[in-house]
Amino acid sequence: MVIAAMVVVTACTGDAQPPSLTQAGTPQSTTSALTTSGPVGSSAATVETSTPAVQDRAGERVEMVERQIEGRGIEDQVVLAAMRAVPRHRFVPDELTDRAYGDHPLPIGHGQTISQPLIVAMMSTALAAEPGDKILEIGTGSGYQAAVLAEMGMEVYSVEIIPELANRAARALDDLGYGVAVRTADGYFGWEEHAPFDGIIVTAAPDHVPQPLVQQLEPGGVMVIPVGPIGAVQTLWRFTVSESGEFQAPGSRPPELQAESMGAVSFVPFTRAEE
Ligand code: SAH
Repeated sequence: MVIAAMVVVTACTGDAQPPSLTQAGTPQSTTSALTTSGPVGSSAATVETSTPAVQDRAGERVEMVERQIEGRGIEDQVVLAAMRAVPRHRFVPDELTDRAYGDHPLPIGHGQTISQPLIVAMMSTALAAEPGDKILEIGTGSGYQAAVLAEMGMEVYSVEIIPELANRAARALDDLGYGVAVRTADGYFGWEEHAPFDGIIVTAAPDHVPQPLVQQLEPGGVMVIPVGPIGAVQTLWRFTVSESGEFQAPGSRPPELQAESMGAVSFVPFTRAEE
């Protein structure tokens, strides 16, 4: 697994001004937004003359992966293939579809954003999951990250605290045939009925690691989570539960964790139901 180290990326920031990407030691500094040639929308009359690839914006995805993901050192072929396949433009508001494949996050309403493609690739790679693994995502947002994991062959459960976003994401995922289970709740408590998980991915930043999530991980399971103070740059962590650790019931001692820093990131805050 190769991950660009110490990259400050705009992941899922409240400030959705694109592109604000500062990079250290990576091959490219910035890439410009990519556009397709020709119209993308189709009517009954244009379907015959437009190729499905253009309507589906496959060319933009190939370029996005080549320039923004592979070009920055991510080599996981399963992740790259999934990001070439998932129609990211279907997860952004209609008026922003032309910018869906740019090198930046985009607003999705309610003060939230769809993460920059690079951060989705980094987090998906860091999970080190196998097809069939059961993954819990906290922070469904647009549903795009969940779709990428589903496309990689994972069984995905995703929790979103804002009901409107959860509903919209569930619809987009259903329309595209991704069997992702979406639930509206405070993800601090995970999704106990479906625990334990092989991996947990958190796409909003709490100021500490929620213990209920740790306790819903399998032995050998991985949690990828940004942690840090609200409004400041956070650290993206990859925690691994020791293979010997048994799955712990809530309330018992947390299993041993191995921590690995993946660099500085900027995510929207992890909010709590009572706030
Ligand atoms: N993974 C998303 C990124 C969404 S941004 C995507 O691919 O589009 C982070 C999301 O986390 C926001 O939608 C926000 O509402 C949600 N969130 C914040 N705190 C949460 C919590 N306690 N439980 C569940 N979701 C939360």
